Amino acid sequence: MAKEELECSFCGRKKPETNLLIAGLDAHICDKCIEQAHGIVVEESRDTDNQDLESELMLKKPKEIKAFLDSYVIGQEYTKKVMSVAVYNHYKRLLQTKTEDDIEIQKSNIVMVGQTGTGKTLIAKTVAKMLNVPLAIVDATVLTEAGYVGEDVESILTRLLQAADYNLEKAQRGIVFIDEIDKIARKSDNPSITRDVSGEGVQQALLKLLEGTVVNVPPKGGRKHPDQKFIEVNTEHILFIAGGAFDGIERHIAKRMNMQAMGFSASKTDDVIDTDNLLQYIIPKDLKDFGLIPEIIGRLPVLTHMNPLDSGTLRAILTEPKNAIIKQYEKLFAMDDIAFSITEGALEFLVEKAIEYKLGARGLRSLCEAVLTDAMFDMPSSDEKELNVTKSYAEGKLNKSTLNKLKAVS
Ligand code: ADP
Repeated sequence: MAKEELECSFCGRKKPETNLLIAGLDAHICDKCIEQAHGIVVEESRDTDNQDLESELMLKKPKEIKAFLDSYVIGQEYTKKVMSVAVYNHYKRLLQTKTEDDIEIQKSNIVMVGQTGTGKTLIAKTVAKMLNVPLAIVDATVLTEAGYVGEDVESILTRLLQAADYNLEKAQRGIVFIDEIDKIARKSDNPSITRDVSGEGVQQALLKLLEGTVVNVPPKGGRKHPDQKFIEVNTEHILFIAGGAFDGIERHIAKRMNMQAMGFSASKTDDVIDTDNLLQYIIPKDLKDFGLIPEIIGRLPVLTHMNPLDSGTLRAILTEPKNAIIKQYEKLFAMDDIAFSITEGALEFLVEKAIEYKLGARGLRSLCEAVLTDAMFDMPSSDEKELNVTKSYAEGKLNKSTLNKLKAVS
């Protein structure tokens, strides 16, 4: 066959009509057909990916989700249970096909109320890990109304896209954890006539995201790249989890409960109220009294609370979770062939100090660092192959460290 008579075996285009004609054994293919075929391959694999995702998601029942959470998060039984159900329902909702009946399962976005360091972020992270979906953790304090200094709410979705490696489909099934949601509460007792750009304005802007809408998202974020093409992100299937300490909300809870006790529901006075942990009685109305607008509360229908960490919980956090702090140190030392052990007395001492310094679970890590830094510095270049941390060893190291100064400050 003369060279100019060559043609694409798929579409029949003659060689001069193509940009590129690639020869196979007995056939040729042109650039256009390659592109088309590639499109089909991508489409097909996306379909199977989605099917895989769906079958994978369906496998986990609430009890299995809870069991997974149990291996990372100590205590917080109520939240873990509520979370497991909410996550299960959320993904069931994703799998619902449009049927004849008009029942549409609505989103089960979640709000967790609890002191800092009680495991809110950890729970969100663990759920994302289990479901193998992308997670974006954002801080509500940096958000402002569009046009003001700070970040627009769309930046949340930029983060999610980044977490999903710009795979739109994955991002659209991801989880967004909005931390410090309490910091955008309406500042009602502020009589200032200036606009509340970081409070109610942000709540208004968040509404649409939470509910489900298509948002134009700058893929590289914000204002530094004005020429970038927007990506359309649909938030309908994104699970939003909000967390906040809501400092002082106990007052609202106590007030409401006292009123109830005096009012018509006084028959319930037999129930003993645990005044040490009022958060457990939280209801959506308390969030409203705190300054969240009712529309936001309505779009975060699952409300749960975190319990303060007592010494038993802190003790368990040191050694029990899958990637417990002590297990991490064991591994670090083992990499230098050093057998690391720690006595019960030393562990209890660390817990005591964490409580004394009011450092919560986050402090356990800093305390361990303070105690172990010397050993981690010296031992890799020495012949010692064993480290047993006792209470007096820990005490000695801590007394030398700057952490000890905390006591003087607090
Ligand atoms: P929050 O988001 O409530 O401020 P985090 O989830 O960031 O708190 O918790 C800080 C760290 O403390 C976590 O990385 C984890 O190591 C530890 N932690 C806190 N609560 C728990 C818990 N209930 N179980 C296990 N670890 C916890």
